[in-house]
Amino acid sequence: MGYILIHNGTLIDGKGKQPIPDGGLLIEENVILDSGSLKSLEMPQSDLKKIDAHGGFILPGFIDCHVHIMFNGFRVEDPLLTPLSLYFYQAVENLRLTLEAGVTTVRDAGMADYGVKKAVEEDLIVGPRLQISVMPLSITGGHFDLMMKSGNDVKTRYPGLPDSVCDGPEEVLKRVREVLRSGADVVKVMVTGGVMSANDSPEHPQFTRKELEVIVEEAAYRNISVMAHAHGKEGIKNALNTNIKSIEHGTCLDQECIDLILKKDAWVIPTLLVHQHNQKEAGKLPEYVQEDAAKVGKALNKNMKVAYRAGVKMAMGTDSGVGPHGQNLRELSLLCGIGMNPMEALQAGTIRAAELLGWEDKIGTLEKGKLADVVISKKDPLAHIDSLGDPDNITLVLKEGKVIKDIRTS
Ligand SMILES: [Zn+2]
Repeated sequence: MGYILIHNGTLIDGKGKQPIPDGGLLIEENVILDSGSLKSLEMPQSDLKKIDAHGGFILPGFIDCHVHIMFNGFRVEDPLLTPLSLYFYQAVENLRLTLEAGVTTVRDAGMADYGVKKAVEEDLIVGPRLQISVMPLSITGGHFDLMMKSGNDVKTRYPGLPDSVCDGPEEVLKRVREVLRSGADVVKVMVTGGVMSANDSPEHPQFTRKELEVIVEEAAYRNISVMAHAHGKEGIKNALNTNIKSIEHGTCLDQECIDLILKKDAWVIPTLLVHQHNQKEAGKLPEYVQEDAAKVGKALNKNMKVAYRAGVKMAMGTDSGVGPHGQNLRELSLLCGIGMNPMEALQAGTIRAAELLGWEDKIGTLEKGKLADVVISKKDPLAHIDSLGDPDNITLVLKEGKVIKDIRTS
């Protein structure tokens, strides 16, 4: 293998410092050996391959904390028409698009199984590094119970993707153990209703505190964290009071929720992109979704501004899969829309996200010893944060020192 030097670009290492013009990044095999101004780097004497950044901006690989790699727009009726194998072929494309957009790590918020993660790890398919939740836990009639009022159950199940509808502490315990047995790196739980589901409303709480306690305790036995899909206040509070640290969406949070988030040192993943998408596509959404989508979209932006100003920790998550794949970094300019400056947005998509995933020691910045996940942006992301959302502006993607995408000269 040997060494790679990325040069002739401005280095933004993700630590929040001033960018370094004429920066350099030195990689040995899959890890970063050194970074800084080009002059300060000690060059190896042999086996050095040079990558010219052509005056671009050298950034850490991005991390999306909320995607659904197996979804292509979420419609409850899809499983009736889609052969099981097609989901996997679609996922191959979704993973590639995500990585080529500059996202080198994702946390899948539901339906990617252990085989999908393994296929990426074994280099059978190209994709970002994955943390998976396998199947989100839901109450009967909740956000991820896909039994319709007609009595037809449209949820996809197969060996390796267990059902996860459960009620009462005993059943909940069994289900969380089944999800963990299936290879979950994180447990996803639906603590309120949602937008895309037919049977509930986003503001309704789901699962009792007692049930949530069982989930959090069991996951903690294995040092595994819990992420909670949560729109309504009651559900958000239930999650926080049972020490769930990752609040997904967080739409209707009020001051009481914010105080609790700060006290518990929890995170909010605003997923602004999916709600922007839902608002743009409002006319095309199924009837049972439209009202909820409009309500949630409006509240989310307003409340996230308040949460940001209050100092709530936030990391980038897009819910891609519900919306299109490969546009993940559009979330960064939306994060600026709620008050972040471009450097903060950049860090929400890199080191902050790495902290949330518990991987801050191995990804999230361009520092010695970390995995060589690197992205080059043609335009200055601090002056044009929206440029990151355009995959054509992402000219190079390296995952663990391997060139995945290279369109520097085109
Ligand atoms: Zn989601």
